[in-house]
Amino acid sequence: MGTNTVPNKKLAIFTATGCRACENAILDIHYQVNSLARYADITFWPYVLGSQWKDLEAQEGVDVCFFSGAIRTVSDREAAVKLREKSRIMVALGACAAFGGLPGLGNLSRSRGPGEPSQPKPDDPEHALEEANPRLPTLEPRVSGLSQIVKVDYFVPGCPPPQNFLWAAIQSLVCEGRAPARLSFSTARLPEAVAQAITSGILPPKGSVFAGEKAVCATCSRVKEEKRFETYKRPYQKYEALGRCLLEQGLLCQGITTMGGCGGLCTAMAQPCRGCFGKVDAIFDPGAKMVSAIASTFDLDDAREIDTLVDNFVDLAGTFYRYTLQTQCTLFSTPSKD
Ligand code: SF4
Ligand code: SF4
Ligand code: SF4
Repeated sequence: MGTNTVPNKKLAIFTATGCRACENAILDIHYQVNSLARYADITFWPYVLGSQWKDLEAQEGVDVCFFSGAIRTVSDREAAVKLREKSRIMVALGACAAFGGLPGLGNLSRSRGPGEPSQPKPDDPEHALEEANPRLPTLEPRVSGLSQIVKVDYFVPGCPPPQNFLWAAIQSLVCEGRAPARLSFSTARLPEAVAQAITSGILPPKGSVFAGEKAVCATCSRVKEEKRFETYKRPYQKYEALGRCLLEQGLLCQGITTMGGCGGLCTAMAQPCRGCFGKVDAIFDPGAKMVSAIASTFDLDDAREIDTLVDNFVDLAGTFYRYTLQTQCTLFSTPSKD
């Protein structure tokens, strides 16, 4: 039990198909783990505690499940359904769970399409591969974000989520019923409704995203001067690291379309934003918006020069939908369960 009459919250933490850095981000809260332990008990965490599924089945349920990773395999789907059934609050943690993430790019090459069988057909080379290796996981027909499989209550984007949002999310959900919230944290950059709920000890509105409210560009300190795009560069090529907007220098920085709140972690380090917080609400399709934003600032008149510039672009789908193909690209997305 905690230090007052509110019982400790029970937490579950799980990764489906992902790199586990989201789980490591939880471990990275370091000294704050002690304060968390006063209010919560982690009762299911296979990665760190070696928990088994039977341990979860033996429990009546948990209060909050932090689920990271995309739904790539049949066992990912089963885990999502099982954890949803057992959890009062389901949180999509990180870009893979929130949007399909990097694993979602697999849909560019192997999607069998909605309604097609999840098992490869006998004449599919993958069928032979699975038969020869029965221990390989059985893949789903498409990679999905968590909300396309089960209902999700909250989203914590990022790859992995930055500390301030992750910690704010953990505390707000763990401190429900303890007003004002007892743990030390900053609500800076959180949407107002989320910040108010946290400080009042009530749950933020369902569906809230623990991110900012404006695009990365809005808080980026880089100077936009010329609003023109005349060359294309990749991050390994030489460019001006200090001061100037990276997009104007020819790097495909997605600060225009990406939900902010991270404080421009990448652009501050002279790296273009890759979109790990997903799109801002006002934008319908982040890739289409990027194409339109770049095309409208082309500073070339000659059609052949434009063709040459565009021909040089590498992997546009993988760049503009690196984290969001399955949930935010109009051509690929499928409805969520919400
Ligand atoms: S969101 Fe990023 S850090 Fe988290 S599991 Fe996916 S790839 Fe790893
Ligand atoms: S496009 Fe990128 S570098 Fe330019 S202002 Fe926006 S976030 Fe900053
Ligand atoms: S700058 Fe873009 S890619 Fe980098 S952490 Fe922020 S949202 Fe993610």
